Amino acid sequence: MTRFEPVIGLEVHAELLTQSKMFCGCAVVDPTFAEPNSSVCEICTGMPGTLPVINQRAVEFALRVALALNCSIAETSVFARKNYFYPDLPKGFQISQYDLPLATNGWIEIQDASGAPSTKRVRIRRVHLEEDTGKLLHHEQHSLVDYNRSGVPLLEIVSEPDLLSVYQARQYSLALRSLLRYLEVNSGDLQKGVLRFEANVSVRPTGSEELGTRTEIKNLNSFRALSRAVEYEIDRQTALLRSGKPVVQNTVGWDEGRQVTVPQRSKEEAHDYRYLPEPDLPPLHVEAAWVDRVRAALPELPAAKRSRFMTEYGLSAYAAGVLTADRPVADYYEAAVESAVESENETLPLKIANWLSSDLFGLLNEADIEIDQSNVTSEALVRLVSMVENGRISAASGKTVLEVLFKEGGSPESIVEERGLAQLEDQASIRPIVDQVLSDNPDQLAEYLAGKAALSEWFLGQIMRATQGKADPAAARAELDAALLDLDEIQSSR
Ligand SMILES: [Zn+2]
Repeated sequence: MTRFEPVIGLEVHAELLTQSKMFCGCAVVDPTFAEPNSSVCEICTGMPGTLPVINQRAVEFALRVALALNCSIAETSVFARKNYFYPDLPKGFQISQYDLPLATNGWIEIQDASGAPSTKRVRIRRVHLEEDTGKLLHHEQHSLVDYNRSGVPLLEIVSEPDLLSVYQARQYSLALRSLLRYLEVNSGDLQKGVLRFEANVSVRPTGSEELGTRTEIKNLNSFRALSRAVEYEIDRQTALLRSGKPVVQNTVGWDEGRQVTVPQRSKEEAHDYRYLPEPDLPPLHVEAAWVDRVRAALPELPAAKRSRFMTEYGLSAYAAGVLTADRPVADYYEAAVESAVESENETLPLKIANWLSSDLFGLLNEADIEIDQSNVTSEALVRLVSMVENGRISAASGKTVLEVLFKEGGSPESIVEERGLAQLEDQASIRPIVDQVLSDNPDQLAEYLAGKAALSEWFLGQIMRATQGKADPAAARAELDAALLDLDEIQSSR
């Protein structure tokens, strides 16, 4: 049977976190809180005779993204009218960039397999600026339109069809989201629709260089929907080709309820939109000096941070990926390592990474909050991890302390003190417990003395239980061995 492989390209629409809209002074408002149509004016509702003005901040944000994606910046780019009629588009056209986009020919590196250190370079075809449309709210018998979103700056990032699996498509979209958040141009909040994906999907016989006929899946608003929809299309197209039927080029939507794609319209061509240069806006000139300033101000980006974390702190590719996906998490981790710098324990950066990515992440997820909203300061986490490392508390107690810190804040030392979680390390305090356990279990002791050596493990378990896990296991083991040796000698001397 012929084997088929998918070829996927993604178009990502990202709303930019500017104060005001793309071509007017209206505030960009949060759709969750704003009254419908409370942030609108003549320009963003498309009244005749009004003139748009380009938002400089939006251009700067677009430059940040384009430079971080290694694109070439066009000295001159042009805004165009993309004509189509839709109720959420009051002008009857959308101002976008077509022939001469702001930036082209970039790339981004993604992880190409789970946990693998190897990376794959995905080419970026273009990055351009446009404006968002309004929003339709459909009810049973009528529809409402909210123009608050109309004219919000929107960045479109188009990849080449370089993604060869659902996994890669997902990795690419995650990497882009991470990048946009690092650059502080987009919140990455998919539930609010500030980041939306469209996927071009085709399949072809494995090894073929030619592209198959593609379909375009519109408006995917979550990573889950993206993965499911792309997977569904790959399966659907593969089944068609296997049975000798052609794939029809069209636009499809993702039906979340039924988990299927549904045809929406036959694919429109670019000429259907009658693109024409926007007569109300001059060409956009971007000076080289400005581009240089924006480039110089870029933060360290996720990929660079990831490899630095691997070499500097000895983290695995996976751990470094987890800790650098979000800038606040990466900052938190570095602040923690910084405050651990006095410690002589060289594995502390690794231990902190473990506590952070498993235990603290677990608590954050459960509470559905971000790391910078947490009560656990990076410094407190380090002191907690150090206490576990130097044997002052057990790992199990460490988790209890972390939970208390997370809920109530405070210092790990006083939580250990208040709850009596410190390990019993000194022999003087452990020995009486050992003696008590041995005298409480005469039968087992007799068996042990008769040669059943494995029972010493069982005794150790009883001691840990009697101390509620607070005995330092090594110290308890030493005291137990000493006590058993004494008894053995007494017995054999009889
Ligand atoms: Zn406006």
